[in-house]
Amino acid sequence: MVWLLRKCEKCLKYTLKSDICGCCAGRVRVPHPPRFSPDDKYLKYRMALKQKRQTT
Ligand SMILES: [Zn+2]
Repeated sequence: MVWLLRKCEKCLKYTLKSDICGCCAGRVRVPHPPRFSPDDKYLKYRMALKQKRQTT
């Protein structure tokens, strides 16, 4: 999943715009940078695929 939400540094509102805030035209930044999570819900599918590939 691509993280689309940005947070304005000026008014602290969340926006979907990637450059400037739609509210106050302030700078926006990604509040939570996307990173790999060990709790990735697709991990078990990937593991299952890997095991399947190994056994066949
Ligand atoms: Zn703003």
